[in-house]
Amino acid sequence: MSALRVLGCSGGIGGSNRTTSFLLNQTILIDAGTGVGDLTMDELLQIEHVFITHAHLDHIACLPLLIDSTIGARTTPVTVHATAATIAILKAHIFNWLIWPDFSVIPSVEDAFLRYAPQELGESYFIDGVTITPIPAEHTIPAVAFQIENDRSSIVFSGDTVGGPQFWQVVNQITNLKTLIIETAFAERELPLAKMAKHLCPSTLAAELLNLQSSVEVLITHLKPADSDLTIAEVLNLDHIHPIRRLLQGEILEF
Ligand SMILES: [Zn+2]
Ligand SMILES: [Zn+2]
Repeated sequence: MSALRVLGCSGGIGGSNRTTSFLLNQTILIDAGTGVGDLTMDELLQIEHVFITHAHLDHIACLPLLIDSTIGARTTPVTVHATAATIAILKAHIFNWLIWPDFSVIPSVEDAFLRYAPQELGESYFIDGVTITPIPAEHTIPAVAFQIENDRSSIVFSGDTVGGPQFWQVVNQITNLKTLIIETAFAERELPLAKMAKHLCPSTLAAELLNLQSSVEVLITHLKPADSDLTIAEVLNLDHIHPIRRLLQGEILEF
């Protein structure tokens, strides 16, 4: 049995809203949005692996602080798993000595607090009883979805994506798929903005879900705070065949 704990699943901050992050078992983060900031120091110290869907700030905001905050207490490095394209963005724009130190050479290259582990699409990484595999996703910057699988079932987390044929082709081949976590960032009235930002809104979600061949549970994430109630109401009004509901911050998905 594995547990995926929702640390943050909002498209923004304010009040209790936290941006995208999941704690998988005790040692793995899937994205590192602001939800990571609610973890205790003991929980932060247990994190050894961070899988990043893409380098947008709402998905990495707490990554620099996670590494820095646990220096002195941590005995193992934090390994960041992402595609080479995403790692290049993190190196150039975050861990560049200007925004934040380059922890991949601190205190030394051999003993660094941060390690990068490039991962190609379709390349599985096995750890802690789960296999994590990047799936093609279409967003404004290089991005992936993740299949998270154990010996019982799979969860797919779409990250930020408008879906696309490559995404659905892979998803439909997963025979033990139990749950699809997919974003719907914007309400219908923001359709032009959603298209520009390569996010989904209710009507484009409905069109994408027509590609989903199995009747798995669909959980909606990444709602922008200002329109979250409107957006989820529009999603629930869709003509859909899948059980569908809003993903809740704090919930634990066992699989
Ligand atoms: Zn994004
Ligand atoms: Zn996002």
